[in-house]
Amino acid sequence: MTGKGLQAPRGTFDVLPEQAAQRERLLQAAREIFGLAGYRLIITPAFEDTALFERGVGKSTDIVRKEMFTFKDKGERSLTLRPEGTASVCRAYIEHGMHKLPQPVKLFYTGPFFRHERPQAGRYRQFNQIGAEAIGSDSPLVDVEVISLLSDLIEELGVPGVELRLGSLGSLDARATYLDELKSHLRSRDQELSEDVRARIEINPLRAFDSDHEGTRAVMADAPHLLDFLSEEDAEHFEQVKSYLGTASVPFTIDPTLVRGLDYYTRTIFSFVCDRLGAQSEIGGGGRYDGLIEQLGGPATPAIGWAAGIERILLALDEEVTSAGMDLFVVVPDPELITKAVALVSELRHHGLAVEMDLAGRSVKGQFKQADRVNAAHTLILEPGGTASLRNMETGDQRTVDPKAVANLIRS
Ligand code: AMP
Repeated sequence: MTGKGLQAPRGTFDVLPEQAAQRERLLQAAREIFGLAGYRLIITPAFEDTALFERGVGKSTDIVRKEMFTFKDKGERSLTLRPEGTASVCRAYIEHGMHKLPQPVKLFYTGPFFRHERPQAGRYRQFNQIGAEAIGSDSPLVDVEVISLLSDLIEELGVPGVELRLGSLGSLDARATYLDELKSHLRSRDQELSEDVRARIEINPLRAFDSDHEGTRAVMADAPHLLDFLSEEDAEHFEQVKSYLGTASVPFTIDPTLVRGLDYYTRTIFSFVCDRLGAQSEIGGGGRYDGLIEQLGGPATPAIGWAAGIERILLALDEEVTSAGMDLFVVVPDPELITKAVALVSELRHHGLAVEMDLAGRSVKGQFKQADRVNAAHTLILEPGGTASLRNMETGDQRTVDPKAVANLIRS
């Protein structure tokens, strides 16, 4: 039905059954890849205390400043529909004392996320992510394992034209020196910057790298790069990540201007971009967030993770997946046979066959049409004497059978 007030809200969408098969395939592939590497599913609430994201994602980020769906509950508590998954997973890690488990704790999640963004192709206000987090180790081996998961998923699904960009933000202490350099570079040319970037020179100068404002881009072309300011330890960590990625046969390119939209990242950051997508070209990305758990009140705990947009992956795949058809459609030529049909359909489903029968009082001709519509491989036409005719819909071959033998006949 269409009509005023009866549409899905702006920036949201319905996934109709004919579009769902592709999602199922994606999630199935992801679960398999996560399972093989020992990552286990975690499910957290769709809303959290607003303070979690203010502290976890960062007050200077676009997400917290402008994009959160925040509301008061009846007890006047401020709640927010989750705009991303990492803060919630870290909250759960702390709340459930997961630091006592063998480390790193390896988790994955999937579900809807909410950001009040300007809707466009590949950017929605409710979208779905799939993500992985490995919490409790700063080994570069973890960086490589986590990055490989997304790289494997992209390869398994056959997403074309994807490139992995890799960078390092260094640890928080070491970054301070660099940020001073960057700020003075920005200040020295502040008249050329966009208003937004100028207003955030002090609080979030790194975001200037992400700007598509022409003047800002010109200023950033001459900006110092964080990669040249890494501490010896951070540089060594980054070297090892690169080397193990080579060992794991994961191709990448180094991007010294790479930054991410969330404040919590440290050391390794990465982004998988796809040249088949327009302006919103990132399929997924993430990085290390070695300071986040402590910032949220937990013990100092290094961690790394990523999130990928399910809709972005599907857009990049841009393929039709036809859902599997039915094994059998039971045709009932005479109302007296309905009881028999109901019993048979139920029995065959218990045998694991995909079986349908008419539910709308169709004529025999109409039932055959319906069998075609549901893409049934066979039809079984019940007969008054207790026998039935099994028809192979592809070849047209038809033979008389005992309905009890149908399950085996279809399987063979
Ligand atoms: P982020 O959580 O911002 O690091 O984003 C991770 C991934 O989620 C991105 O690479 C996108 O694929 C996807 N994503 C982020 N925001 C949106 C959005 N508004 N609509 C659709 N997908 C999104």
